[in-house]
Amino acid sequence: TQRVVIIGAGIVGTNIADELVSRGWTDITVVEQGPLQMPGGSTSHAPGLVFQTTPSKTMTNLARYTVQKLLSIEKDGQNCFNQVGGLEVATTPARLEELKRKHGYASSWGIEARLINSEECLQLYPHLDQNIVLGGLHIPSDGLALAARATQLLIERTRKAGVCYLGETPVTGIERAGRRVTGVTTPKGFIPADIIISCAGFWGVEIGAMVGVSIPLLPLAHQYAKTTAVPALAGRDLNKRMNGMNAELPILRHQDQDLYYREHGEQYGIGYYGHRPMPVVAGSLGLTPKHVDEKNMPSRLEFTKEDFEPAWKESQKLLPALRDTQIDDGFNGVFSFTPDGGPIIGQAPNLDGFWVAEAVWVTHSAGVARAVAEVLTTGRSQIDLTDCELSRFEEVQLSRAYINETSAQNFVEIYDILHPSQPKESPRNLRTSPFYSRQKNLGAYFLELGGWERPFWYESNSYLLKCLPAEWQPVERDAWSSQFYSPIVAAEAWKTRNAVAMYDMTSFHRFEVSGPGALHLLQRLATADVASKIGAINHALLLNDHGGILSDVFIARLDENLFQVGANTATDLAYLSREARRQGQWVQVRDITGSTCCIGLWGPRSRDVISSISTDDFTNMAFPYFTAKNAIINGIPVTALRKSYVGELGWEIQTSAEYGQRLWDIIANAGKTHGLIPAGRGAFNALRLEKGYRTYGADMNTEHNPYEAGVASAIRASKWEDYVGKAALERLVKEKPTRRLRCLTIDDGRSMVLGKEPVFFNGKAVGYVTTAAFGYTIRKPIAYAWLPSNVSEGQVVGIEYFGRRIKATVAAEPLYDPDSRRLLD
Ligand code: FAD
Repeated sequence: TQRVVIIGAGIVGTNIADELVSRGWTDITVVEQGPLQMPGGSTSHAPGLVFQTTPSKTMTNLARYTVQKLLSIEKDGQNCFNQVGGLEVATTPARLEELKRKHGYASSWGIEARLINSEECLQLYPHLDQNIVLGGLHIPSDGLALAARATQLLIERTRKAGVCYLGETPVTGIERAGRRVTGVTTPKGFIPADIIISCAGFWGVEIGAMVGVSIPLLPLAHQYAKTTAVPALAGRDLNKRMNGMNAELPILRHQDQDLYYREHGEQYGIGYYGHRPMPVVAGSLGLTPKHVDEKNMPSRLEFTKEDFEPAWKESQKLLPALRDTQIDDGFNGVFSFTPDGGPIIGQAPNLDGFWVAEAVWVTHSAGVARAVAEVLTTGRSQIDLTDCELSRFEEVQLSRAYINETSAQNFVEIYDILHPSQPKESPRNLRTSPFYSRQKNLGAYFLELGGWERPFWYESNSYLLKCLPAEWQPVERDAWSSQFYSPIVAAEAWKTRNAVAMYDMTSFHRFEVSGPGALHLLQRLATADVASKIGAINHALLLNDHGGILSDVFIARLDENLFQVGANTATDLAYLSREARRQGQWVQVRDITGSTCCIGLWGPRSRDVISSISTDDFTNMAFPYFTAKNAIINGIPVTALRKSYVGELGWEIQTSAEYGQRLWDIIANAGKTHGLIPAGRGAFNALRLEKGYRTYGADMNTEHNPYEAGVASAIRASKWEDYVGKAALERLVKEKPTRRLRCLTIDDGRSMVLGKEPVFFNGKAVGYVTTAAFGYTIRKPIAYAWLPSNVSEGQVVGIEYFGRRIKATVAAEPLYDPDSRRLLD
């Protein structure tokens, strides 16, 4: 068994110890700088509200397990969860709509929830002002975590199971040998370890700094206050009635004013996110004192009363009973925020054995702990962690300036109504392709991802709307789905299908894998046989040992020992790099995304364009589908890859960044006579969905296997070499999938959905939408959805969108060019 050191005995560290020891790991030491009975981190004062439902399936599932576990941790007849239910109220029409969407997420992820009117809100919560509340969302399984108690009980039971706890012991350093950790230093001595898991909460930045790992979290102070006893609650001996739990009303959210509430016996607790962001540097808080109590702990800062004034006013409006009370005790409590709001879990990309589980709420604590323990003990977590991985951040997102600005923004927006496509306002223009100035001149509308500016459509194409054939005219959209959208997208889709368009593909990850060990590495990790001829491109999957999909990639063999991997995320780079290090035989993995650029030239006339600017042979014979070669385009050296995400003839043309702008100009000029236009992500997404191409992360992830996800074509059955996941596939191929990723078309031909909506069959929520777009060629909206396998082609389902059921039919896929004639000629 591995020697594990866990740093921090908050709700996360103690839960990880518990999940590991229950899986048979025995050599576990938890090192805590504060006193163990009250360590003084965020857990020590967390009010413990657990609202489970979020737009993220992963986060909701992590919360659901946490609730189950807290209910099961019991002593003296009392468990650690007070299941009072959760109520979110709307005081604006926009919020009322938002709650409908949220109700949809609950249905999608299988959480029982009910939209209720204002009278029902009042029945559930009599203190609300009837004149303000328009309606609410009630989730009976939400409630209050007794986090500090759970931590103590976990310490007690894991100690009995052999876990060693060292209180009042700060970790002052981490030792390493090369790229591997060897242990931690403390004032009491060195503790050797194979695996170090930093569960230091908002001190995570300082722990990361000990080994040069940037931890993308920002500690922020957040206001919490308790009122004096509320006369309306007087005399309730809740402790007796509620078996030691001091609340019986549902936990309450008033997100229109950035507020939440819980009862503390006769008092109210009020949490507020409406104040200015108040960043904290954990290292400046000093050592945790020997004596910590409710009012004296490093994570509890002085209350800034003036910041709370709006909260107090609004609270008295919503809950008139509070008008007879005052603030009894307030503080600014510290906890972690991150650039995208997600937690930070996983192994550091460049340091083996250094793991983190930070920026985790009480709400997700046990779920995260189980996931980490599963990954450590079995190699995969049953809940997908793609959006939680430490390695998901790009290099530029790990700078302190980026972390601080975006995390503070996340605090500001925590309860805002956010559109799924809504981009960050700042920082922007962090990463731009060499085509950027040309795109700006063409009126590109940019959305941001991973720091990249990516054009979604070009205003310069708006003139095309006038000449669009009737059957290509865009249909009108509702107010929500028309945000971050333009009808110009229809024109760009039309031109791609009928002439030719150029797409900026620069931001797609490109990794170069080279050296004598390159072939072996990729053969060991990929489902495709990449020992093919130089110039071949293979579509492949990277799997975990259980056959779950880690990534969906294209691998081009550019030379004997030189491959290019077209991948999805920064996590892919971390994975390939780690496996390359493990492999001994020399192989280098290099991210070439930013040093190169790429234009997708696609459409039936793409060959005419490219042949007019190159003397290389681009005929079908000389340059067949799924091959790559070096070429010269008007003097510029390029690598051309004959593949297409949009389902049309064409090439991805890559060159190094310094030639980029010239390449753009050459193609744009040559294309004029062939009807070439620049086109953006809007058209790209629509065309890819018509062709049935999946997007990793949104359509499928580690929870899915290739057969149910419909990507088994990326598995080369004849490949004799062993690769990660092969044994699991041999088992899975014999099993009948219980669920399938299905293609749906919307029956009315116009109603849009955006993703994550629940899908109903025979009146029951049975699945959820992954991605959706309007299929301009087929003249219907398309939605991909996970559904039970008994829902088959031709059957009609209902997609719930803002409380409305939209009829859709399960369709055979792909919807466009099933024989791939357009690609192969
Ligand atoms: P912590 O509890 O902070 O534990 C980290 C531990 O690491 C600490 O005990 C610390 O002493 C120790 N440590 C740090 N550095 C070292 C070192 N060098 N050596 C040894 N030990 C070290 N979440 C919810 O889900 N619901 C809520 O309603 C909610 N409300 C909140 C209200 C407030 C006011 C605040 C501040 C937070 C709230 N949270 C809530 C967030 C939640 O409290 C935290 O996210 C959670 O407690 C973090 O748990 P943790 O174990 O990661 O961190």
